[in-house]
Amino acid sequence: MEPWLCGTCGVEYDPVPSPPSACWICEDERQWVPRDGQRWTTASELRRAGYRSSLRWLEEGLLGIGVEPAVGIGQRALAVVGDRGVVVFDAAPLLDEDAAATIRSLGPVVALCFSHPHFYGAAVTWAELLGAERILVPQVDAAWFVRSSERVALYDDDVVELGEVELRRIGGHFPGSSVLWWPGGAEGRGVLLTGDSLSVNARGDGVTVMWSFPNHLPLAPQVVEAILAHIEPVCFDRLYGGWWDSVIPSAAKEAVYRSLGRYLELLTMPPTVTGPAGGPTEPGAEDASG
Ligand SMILES: [Zn+2]
Ligand SMILES: [Zn+2]
Repeated sequence: MEPWLCGTCGVEYDPVPSPPSACWICEDERQWVPRDGQRWTTASELRRAGYRSSLRWLEEGLLGIGVEPAVGIGQRALAVVGDRGVVVFDAAPLLDEDAAATIRSLGPVVALCFSHPHFYGAAVTWAELLGAERILVPQVDAAWFVRSSERVALYDDDVVELGEVELRRIGGHFPGSSVLWWPGGAEGRGVLLTGDSLSVNARGDGVTVMWSFPNHLPLAPQVVEAILAHIEPVCFDRLYGGWWDSVIPSAAKEAVYRSLGRYLELLTMPPTVTGPAGGPTEPGAEDASG
């Protein structure tokens, strides 16, 4: 028997004869169940349909691990390769044996860790294929890790040191939402891996944070301020979000502060103001007095 994969979020469930009655992650307000109902698949079914792992080096020491064509919510994982081993941040629904062998050849896989539950993917299958001893899951989000495994190691700390990188909890989207800080990345200027704990915007020049992305529900100003306070001590120049295109190549910390500053400005705009500043001038407005 194979683990069941949710067709919408790509998270894996225990290998039992029938799939669960629902995907708990997609039933939650922060995801969605398709209008025509819950779908289930398996890794074999995805392979028969042509899905394959995709590995891409994003910079020296940082390997992207995705699936092509995109499956689930289309996310890609990241592996930081250091002298003290490999740390894998996030997971996708599928990992091919040859891709796993390539990753294993880079060094011992110290741990799998995650930005948040939407990116748990096929974490247990990945850990088995990669020979990873530990799947690090924050205690506050433990209920969302829906597949059982002896490799799951719950933790409570806000900062978990993992060799060359640090897993840092910033909260927001989920109580355990985290980022992985890699001080040696970007030629020593520092890299932050964020999944959608900080979600890179369409222009690639800032980020946003949300309670629910698909349902467009924002976070409260105090929560956004707490996220910024968690980011404050971390030095980084480059930021990688949860998808191939989600990259802020330089001056990323400034971009985080600028974009979340704007977010706070809009959230706390006084009620007498009817719209944001900077919109197009109404046609004919200049002639209103004439
Ligand atoms: Zn799901
Ligand atoms: Zn999410």
